[in-house]
Amino acid sequence: ERARWEGNEKGGDRKRERMMACLFINNEFVDAVSGKTFPTINPTNGKKIVDVAEGDKADVDRAVAAASAAFSPRSSWRTMNASARGKLIYKLATLMERDVEYLANLESLDNGKAYADSLFDINFSADIFKYYAGWADKIHGNTCPADGPVLTMTRKEPVGVVGQIIPWNYPVLMLSWKWGPALAAGCTIVLKPAEQTPLTALYMASLIKEAGFPAGVVNVVPGYGPTAGAAVAWHPQIRKVAFTGSTEVGRLIAEAAAKSNLKRISLELGGKSPLVVFSDADLDEAVEIAHVGLFANHGQSCCAGSRTFVQEDIYDSFVKKAVAKAQARKVGDPFVEGTEQGPQVDDEIFNKVLGYIESGKKEGAKLECGGDRVGKEGYFIKPTVFSNVMDNMKIAREEIFGPVQCIIKFKTLEEVIERANNTTYGLAAAIITKDIDKALTFAQSVQAGSVWLQDLLGAVGGCKGGNQACTTTD
Ligand code: NAD
Repeated sequence: ERARWEGNEKGGDRKRERMMACLFINNEFVDAVSGKTFPTINPTNGKKIVDVAEGDKADVDRAVAAASAAFSPRSSWRTMNASARGKLIYKLATLMERDVEYLANLESLDNGKAYADSLFDINFSADIFKYYAGWADKIHGNTCPADGPVLTMTRKEPVGVVGQIIPWNYPVLMLSWKWGPALAAGCTIVLKPAEQTPLTALYMASLIKEAGFPAGVVNVVPGYGPTAGAAVAWHPQIRKVAFTGSTEVGRLIAEAAAKSNLKRISLELGGKSPLVVFSDADLDEAVEIAHVGLFANHGQSCCAGSRTFVQEDIYDSFVKKAVAKAQARKVGDPFVEGTEQGPQVDDEIFNKVLGYIESGKKEGAKLECGGDRVGKEGYFIKPTVFSNVMDNMKIAREEIFGPVQCIIKFKTLEEVIERANNTTYGLAAAIITKDIDKALTFAQSVQAGSVWLQDLLGAVGGCKGGNQACTTTD
């Protein structure tokens, strides 16, 4: 699979891949109006995988026209039974399961994540579609008591054409969390995948056609943010934009929505989430949870526990064990069995993370391990641990989005609550303690969308469940 996308194989299959490196509009793979393309890069070696059609405003207009036609009142999509809509979504999930290895290969190739992680993501995504398939015929309104001889009821209606803009860190998962609910509700879609990782979205588009969705229900327009993404955000016929990405771009989306047609928006943005370890916790378990909570997906998770607060009496032993874990983490080719961490997604992110590491060193944090690239090729970074991190340092305030663990010392519950809340973010938080009082006090006091109570619920299982909990707020 890998050889095919890298162009080492000739023939029919190769043609299929070329065809998919296009825009997907009205159930057809087409070139951009401008004829422009952009390269998508393999982060393990920095080489081009393939040139992909580069969508722009004119292409978003075409996609919105197709999505609007598919949403017209007598269209096959609008008149389809809700249960049939559910079956189509379920069919899509089964096609993903059929092609799970292909999709996982493509995800690892384009994004750099370890193959085992990609397999997990694709299977999880198929489950998400199955879940939403069940929702299609269970979207109920209410009847409401009202004074007088009247009958009052509410009916849930699909919003209409929905624009979806997603990041590169979980390409298929992000897409599933966006497509699943929109399709279950009966909306039509224009998706702008991240420019770093367009390939699996395009393969998913081919499955949409194969599953039998009517033309125009799902459209995929790869391209850059300020062009294709902005065209989605500003479009007057798009009724809602679902965005996941940086806070900075989230502000632009909100501005575009306000200044165009006041479209609805949902914004899932960045994080600098506190993970708090109390000295009553099982130390080895706590180290493991904090390690996975930060280094999973190369540190490229919105809800990563990127401020690791550790109580002072166990601080030194925690740091020692955390360093040993980070040093043992297997970094390398995502396709080699046993690899836990592949490359960062591109050179920009790679340089940004290395820049944060430099700033940590300059501001006086203690570099315990890592701090450098791995090898000379690709965007690999050694798992890095800083101790003696202070709240005012840049690495403790800003989202690094890379494999850099910042371990911060604290004394008391009251103090750590205040410091945990001293952030411009509020995405997630975790506490590791055996004391239910502390856990619940923290959960109620911390300003975060999701809070995980560990050690009470079980170690790493709780941590993984945490990612799912985050998405339920979508
Ligand atoms: P990003 O904001 O740079 O890009 C996200 C998407 O927005 C991409 O598709 C990009 O092309 C598009 N975009 C960029 N500029 C745009 C513009 N002017 N108008 C419209 N669209 C534009 O983010 P990223 O670097 O790809 O992703 C990392 C960020 O995403 C991190 O901050 C991370 O925390 C966040 N994230 C949040 C969640 C969550 O659920 N809260 C999940 C994953 C990632």
